[in-house]
Amino acid sequence: MNQDKLSILKTRFGYTDFRPGQTEVIDAILAGKDVLAVMPTGAGKSLCYQIPALMLEGLTVVVSPLISLMRDQVSALRAVEIPAAFLNSSLSPGEYADTLRRASGGDYRILYIAPERLRREDMRNLAEAMCISLVVIDEAHCVSQWGHDFRPSYLLMPDFIGQLPRRPITAAFTATATGKVREDIIAMLRLESPFTLITGFNRTNLYFEVQKPKDKLIALLRYLREHPNKNGIVYCATRKMVEDLCQTLQTRGFAVTRYHAGLDDWERHKNQDDFIYDRKSLMIATNAFGMGIDKSNVSFVIHYNMPKNIESYYQEAGRAGRDGEPADCILLYSPQDVRINSFLITNTQDEEAEKDPLLVEHNLELLKQMTWYATSSDCLRSRLLSYFGETASHYCGNCSNCNTQYENIDITLAVRKILSCVYRIEQMGRRFGKTMVIDVLRGGKTEKIRNAGLDRLSTYGIMADADPHRLRLIMDALVNWGYLIITGEEYPVVSLAPSYRDVIGGEKSLTMMLPREDAGLKSQPQPQKQKPEAVPAKPLPKTILIKAALNEDGESTGDLFARLKELRSRLAQEAGVPAYIVFSDASLRDMCRKRPVTGDQFLTVSGVGTAKLEKYGEVFTRLIREYGKER
Ligand code: ADP
Ligand code: ZN
Repeated sequence: MNQDKLSILKTRFGYTDFRPGQTEVIDAILAGKDVLAVMPTGAGKSLCYQIPALMLEGLTVVVSPLISLMRDQVSALRAVEIPAAFLNSSLSPGEYADTLRRASGGDYRILYIAPERLRREDMRNLAEAMCISLVVIDEAHCVSQWGHDFRPSYLLMPDFIGQLPRRPITAAFTATATGKVREDIIAMLRLESPFTLITGFNRTNLYFEVQKPKDKLIALLRYLREHPNKNGIVYCATRKMVEDLCQTLQTRGFAVTRYHAGLDDWERHKNQDDFIYDRKSLMIATNAFGMGIDKSNVSFVIHYNMPKNIESYYQEAGRAGRDGEPADCILLYSPQDVRINSFLITNTQDEEAEKDPLLVEHNLELLKQMTWYATSSDCLRSRLLSYFGETASHYCGNCSNCNTQYENIDITLAVRKILSCVYRIEQMGRRFGKTMVIDVLRGGKTEKIRNAGLDRLSTYGIMADADPHRLRLIMDALVNWGYLIITGEEYPVVSLAPSYRDVIGGEKSLTMMLPREDAGLKSQPQPQKQKPEAVPAKPLPKTILIKAALNEDGESTGDLFARLKELRSRLAQEAGVPAYIVFSDASLRDMCRKRPVTGDQFLTVSGVGTAKLEKYGEVFTRLIREYGKER
């Protein structure tokens, strides 16, 4: 080990800091532990195994389900001078044999393999020739039939690992995994007491919206016209819809291409490349498109039809904004989507499912959750996150419901009433949970209230008309702001914190984002135990801030950005790789900000390590110098 992980991050990949979770996973692998890492798309899973691959003796084998993904990953690694290769069906027999021979000769640090190749005899020979120290399973949820992308060939994995002369460290990565899928991954891949990391699913740069348009085509066209020159994916439920929509958009002059399982291999590849290489800005596709597509500059994903579960939705929608830039995830919902999906689930062609009526039931339940998302007027992000088992704030400020169904409300008076109610109860020498306090405020006529004598309090019934759900949200906020404290041995009870006097004393006024009174939240189904969490009085409108910053940036440096992009595209073409392999948009933007004109300065740009400095430093700094002189 001649370099530590941080210096590899800097010199090879050109980044200054690890992202959340990366350090932990890398350390676990280096300590020889198995790993299960659940990290959202764009979190930076690849580096979690690529860096250990450079630090461990021997070869790292990465099992990955998609050919395009492998090709991209290998190009990206080669771009920073890390010897890597892939073995899959896109290679000719000659190339295949050659790659295998070189792998056995120790020419690569990282070898990507399609799962169905694991069965082959030649893999055994490779394992005998080379010490395989780390096996990485990418998109590990494919091993679970409870997930949404089950791939039988993933079941070959344990046998492959089992027959290696020395058991390698096994690390499984996925972006989506509910508890059940997680358990499956550990069991099916036979991970040995793995270090498990689950980073938050929240991706703050994504804006979520549900529309229920009368005419989906009109809604789509409106969006496309309002967002010209942006790359995006439109997902449809069926091949036929893909065909029709693609045709319609083509005749209207949009730069559009299509993808579904009915096209022959050649055309699928071509269309996918057209999109990835920015030759076509719009991709119309079924859900066959996208897994492992590593295109970072997708700025919207529109679902023309509702998918059949939240996992698929979040994964597909999550292909937007991988570069961290603001991006839109829009679902065009109609009740017909529910009917089509439940028909597909109950009339499945899948043999596994036919054998297992439980699976059908399970899938119908997942569809119900998806439908709740589409019809909810709660914060969409909180719906998604709580589906994945995360507690989320009840208000995110960056989804269509938060933007239209919530308003900033002065709650000073309500807060005074709540706090005095708690005060009165404490004066009686008693303490109760939130539900009871709410009941007292609303003048509930329960036995418990009468027995405790709470109906004699002066605050009894002073908020008779208030919605209990709202009162709970406000009380949660009070806990969050530290005016109330939760304690309790047997069950949680509320009591006053000393700072309550600031509010009761009448000096302070408080506001918070709450569902509008007319938003009809009360009638919404509540499928899950949600634990709403309070937000500070004036939550920052995130998107608006980000967008404003961008505009400012865009105006002053738009020109330069366009020229950097042009240069990038030329270099990418010459090298025959997608533009983002040369540099991500984020790197170009960093160049706009830093305007590096020397090699040293160029090295400070995010995504520039020594290899990229050598390859591109000269041309990019020259362009920036020239740009500076013209001004
Ligand atoms: P995932 O596989 O989790 O979807 P990737 O591994 O493709 O994500 O990483 C997404 C993007 O983030 C890539 O462009 C990658 O280079 C970048 N990235 C990864 N780690 C870091 C880091 N520590 N600092 C800055 N950028 C990073
Ligand atoms: Zn929201």
